Amino acid sequence: MTPLNPEVTKFLATQPLKMFIDGRWVEAKSGATFETRDPGEGKVLAKVAEGDAADVGAAVAAAQKAFQKSGWATMPANDRAVILHRLADLITKHADNLAQIESLDVGKPRGQAAAFDVPHAAQTFRYYADLAVQTRRREPIAISGFDARTVRVPYGVCGFIFPWNFPFLLVGWGVAPALAAGNTVVIKPAEDTPLSTLYFAKLAEEAGVPAGVINVVTGFGHTAGAALASHTGIKRMSFTGSPEVGRLIAEACGKNLVPVKLELGGKGAAVIFDDVNVDAVAEALAGAVTLNAGQVCCTATRWLVHEKIHDAFVKKATSTLAAMKIGYGANPETNIGPVVSEKQRMRVMGYLDRGMKTGAKLLLEGGHAEVKGYEQGYYVKPALMTGAPDNVCAREEIFGPIAYVMKFNDEDKGIELVNSSAYGLANSVWSADLERANRVAERLVAGNSWINAHNLFAHGMPYGGCNLSGCGGGVLGPETLADYLRNQTVARPLA
Ligand code: ADP
Repeated sequence: MTPLNPEVTKFLATQPLKMFIDGRWVEAKSGATFETRDPGEGKVLAKVAEGDAADVGAAVAAAQKAFQKSGWATMPANDRAVILHRLADLITKHADNLAQIESLDVGKPRGQAAAFDVPHAAQTFRYYADLAVQTRRREPIAISGFDARTVRVPYGVCGFIFPWNFPFLLVGWGVAPALAAGNTVVIKPAEDTPLSTLYFAKLAEEAGVPAGVINVVTGFGHTAGAALASHTGIKRMSFTGSPEVGRLIAEACGKNLVPVKLELGGKGAAVIFDDVNVDAVAEALAGAVTLNAGQVCCTATRWLVHEKIHDAFVKKATSTLAAMKIGYGANPETNIGPVVSEKQRMRVMGYLDRGMKTGAKLLLEGGHAEVKGYEQGYYVKPALMTGAPDNVCAREEIFGPIAYVMKFNDEDKGIELVNSSAYGLANSVWSADLERANRVAERLVAGNSWINAHNLFAHGMPYGGCNLSGCGGGVLGPETLADYLRNQTVARPLA
């Protein structure tokens, strides 16, 4: 196991970690702190400033001032792009530190954070910085009798509340388009995983992002989060997390008539036809459902397997899942790290229990996993369940390494079953018949339909949900930049 980089040790040693408001590192006004834990060891990793409504107020005021006076909102997009590229360069330069911090705080395998989360986030800043340069800010309107145009301007202060499954990656997806458009931001990371966002603020400072443009308030959801969502100084809000909290955020924003983007949970399905390479698909889906210990909102957790290949598929999936190495995130052999917290571990165990009590069966037994040397960590084994489509484990998002397998034999019935979900984030179709795969993909009701793969993300390919999975336009697409620019019509009658 590679030891922590000296920079990471130094970063963690400056406890309690302060928040970043108006270009300064500050304690909570109340002086309160909270603890973030290493889920792999179950031990306290760092003490962090516990911000509340007063700190959110200071952060929003700082962001308002920066929007009006720092020059960020009015500088040409290419000048902002230079700074955002510098920020991306710094993320790349410190990628290993960030991957270590993310792995420690979330529990995810360090290699995954290094290979995906961190470089992908750096790329997000580059993508939106460049897109903003190419975006027309003034469009003439060809209407007789008027000299008119649409001017596209940033909104002002944008609020962001993030979850704990991909803290760093999601900061990139969220704030990069807002910043590239010229807005200023207040970020409330999840209380379980605030560290990489604080490190990000440090890099933003070094990159020359003006004071007050990026503010980070660490703290709890019902205090700091709720204060941010209901602050009248916010002009646009973005939330990523559970539908339950998403509803609260939307209500708060509704009261202030603030537009909101919601990226919520999912109960993604994979529809596997009988013409696939069974072993390859079983391996791919076993990988998908265990990625980030199953704490991925868009992953495939309902597997609809054609009855002709069902038994062979289950056999291969079971052996693949059973062979996966559960362990500490910094161990290079680890495939599945711990889940993020004891609360999350109990949630996963609770679902297994409820599912079984209401008639589901286990094809592969899950439950608590013991990892030698890490007995206090929050480890869970992958599980394969099966049973009726209305079982709680087939309907609700578990957010753990658990898949629910169901048989099907008819294309229409398979589609109907997928679409019976209250969610609508991402599904996949697996078939050698591309005509069929495309046909089915278009009939599945969700923000994303993937073919012969699951969990596909690329800059320029919009990603978002419908129904319980969210609304407000999604992320990663060119439209997301437009979401952070409001249109203003400027018109003069021609005499
Ligand atoms: P989980 O319950 O699994 O932690 P949540 O959806 O509750 O997932 O958390 C996502 C984010 O929402 C976190 O940053 C959390 O602090 C925040 N949050 C939780 N409750 C509220 C709330 N009432 N108002 C605003 N933000 C909240």
